[in-house]
Amino acid sequence: MTTIAFIGLGNMGNPMAANLVKAGHAVHGFDLMPENLTVAREHGVVIMANAPAAVKDADVVITMLPAGKHVLSVYEDIAPKAKKGALFIDSSTIDVESARKAHAIAAKRGLLSIDAPVSGGTGGAAAGTLTFMAGGSDGAFAVAEPILKPMAGRIVHCGGDGAGQAAKICNNMILGISMIGVAEAFVLAEKLGLSHQALFDVASTSSGQCWSLTTYCPVPGPVPNSPANRDYKPGFAAALMLKDLKLAQEAAQGSGAVTPLGAEAAQLYALFNAQGHAGADFSGIINFLRGANP
Ligand code: NAD
Repeated sequence: MTTIAFIGLGNMGNPMAANLVKAGHAVHGFDLMPENLTVAREHGVVIMANAPAAVKDADVVITMLPAGKHVLSVYEDIAPKAKKGALFIDSSTIDVESARKAHAIAAKRGLLSIDAPVSGGTGGAAAGTLTFMAGGSDGAFAVAEPILKPMAGRIVHCGGDGAGQAAKICNNMILGISMIGVAEAFVLAEKLGLSHQALFDVASTSSGQCWSLTTYCPVPGPVPNSPANRDYKPGFAAALMLKDLKLAQEAAQGSGAVTPLGAEAAQLYALFNAQGHAGADFSGIINFLRGANP
């Protein structure tokens, strides 16, 4: 049994913390929202008065927060209070630069740290099947791996500090671009009088095959579990897709990478969000594309 502090008990953090409790760990939790603390308590998390109190006796500290500024401010608060040699794991999706700053805050205090963002959404968090993409030293990763296991389907050590965040935003840039590509193909098929099922049957076994088509099809019918079948209830909200595409663009600008399709995808999702669809599933962009091509 390990004592684990868990800070950020929202849609993702709460089910992740619950799986750590189920695995037999003592989990000391904190969140700013009282209703999230109530859920965490029901899952067996010991609620602490604030973040520094949560980390005081912890061997491992996990953060699952909205963005880089939250992670850095929490790290500044908790690093001085952490046990000597404790391991910090940040599983939030944040920009690579903030992730590297977070590593530096931990290192200055002699703490181990990894960035370990996840893919798999709230369903994967509840089922304990998240994919973790980890960045950090071999030593920190070796300590982190058994802690992550009860929450994970797959754990990949991607490289040094920030490599996990780099993998996450590259993956989600592929996802945003491919979803728009699949949605455009269905809109074109509609105009050409080709049925959704016919396009699906051909493309899903041809060179157009991809996850956005075969697992997350943006039209109702061909993939019964995709959000298109429940009026685009998320799933993965368009607001989060826009956040990740913006992070990819920031990283592209900072590193000099040329990503014209990533830039276009970010713009299209910004328009879709601005039309009041931030809470809809990101595959709902097909409705925006239909409207944009009347
Ligand atoms: P969320 O908004 O539900 O949870 C974030 C929690 O952090 C909230 O409960 C909030 O009160 C808490 N918080 C904010 N500042 C805090 C502070 N200073 N101290 C303590 N608690 C604080 O968000 P989420 O959906 O759980 O996502 C968390 C992270 O995981 C984000 O970075 C997101 O991009 C990423 N992510 C989300 C999904 C998803 O499907 N929801 C999938 C993969 C990755």
